[in-house]
Amino acid sequence: MKPASIAAQGLGWVDEQTRAVVPPIHTSTTFIRDPDNQYRSGRIYARDHNPTFDQAEAVLTALEGGHASLLFASGMAAATAVFQALSPGDRVLAPKVMYWSLRNWLANFATQWGLRVQFIDMHNPDDVRSAVREGKTSLVWVETPANPMWTITDIAVTSEIAHAAGAIVAVDSTVATPVLTRPIELGADIVMHSATKYLNGHSDVIAGTLSAREDTPLWQRIRSIRAQLGGVIGPFEAWLLTRGMRTLFPRVRAACNSAQAIAERLEQNRFVGQVLYPGLPSFPGHVIASRQMRGGFGGMLSMRVRGSANGSITGEQAAIAAAAKVQLWKRATSLGGVESLIEHRSSVEGAGTPVPADLLRLSVGLEDADDLIADLEQALSAAHS
Ligand code: PLP
Repeated sequence: MKPASIAAQGLGWVDEQTRAVVPPIHTSTTFIRDPDNQYRSGRIYARDHNPTFDQAEAVLTALEGGHASLLFASGMAAATAVFQALSPGDRVLAPKVMYWSLRNWLANFATQWGLRVQFIDMHNPDDVRSAVREGKTSLVWVETPANPMWTITDIAVTSEIAHAAGAIVAVDSTVATPVLTRPIELGADIVMHSATKYLNGHSDVIAGTLSAREDTPLWQRIRSIRAQLGGVIGPFEAWLLTRGMRTLFPRVRAACNSAQAIAERLEQNRFVGQVLYPGLPSFPGHVIASRQMRGGFGGMLSMRVRGSANGSITGEQAAIAAAAKVQLWKRATSLGGVESLIEHRSSVEGAGTPVPADLLRLSVGLEDADDLIADLEQALSAAHS
């Protein structure tokens, strides 16, 4: 079966008893012990064993192609579980451009717990080669396309370099989704998603996922961290996520098509200095993205807004003004939902951000692409009037 069919039918699941095609929501927190004191059902307590997790985890494993998957209470809970499973003194490489909150946590919290974190230009294999320490680097963290510049890292090349040095590779694949990229096939060991974004797709669930290539001691530690720290999703959210994933493929494909059209049109706009989108031939990572992302380049892009020629308005001011003038786009953070979102990213990230002050991040939803383009064009003009 093709992945789109697996997703659409949630692996073809049918309830044995009722023949329902939609699974029930299990709210029970506890499960009956057998008379001989065993737990043959395999379930003891719902912090770790909620049956509502099963279908979402199985679908994700089928889509990512790994050994197993785990749902977490958020993308951050999933990502930090990977780092928490390492040991004090372990060395980690992470990208300079990556999801801002995780970068902050790595820089300010993980280091205090004894991890040695080095931020590098992950998209440059020479940087990875010179930073990775044979037998000493434990983990290489990749995000591709990386938020919010959409920098592309070659997963296959990075995995080869990391593995040769004895390190494992984890990929935040939130933006690519399993529709476009399957990191495990390309050599990664762990795949992470903020399921809050495309996997659920409706801006109504906070969730995260990890999928593993194989069952390793590290994966077992990650499992224990989830069970013991309890960063788990609720049964209703797990059910919504399962439902959301059924439409993952058409949603992502539609967003890719619209994002491509929007990026091409914005490149022609006189108020836009640069469009950052992996689907544009002008984008530095385009060639690698064409190889690594199948069937589209994602629903995320950014534009750098020009200031006025006479200096009366800076690029930053024009960007903030344009974000305030849109009518159809929603001015909000997050991404991957059915509604299109626009955000002035450097305001969110604050001091120390590598994001240019004139950059607006766009999450393309499912509205008509012509409407989205028209709204951006009028907002850019209005910001300059
Ligand atoms: N990774 C990426 C690329 C993200 O965009 C986000 C959230 O914006 C996260 C991780 C964190 O996910 P969550 O908000 O579900 O904790």
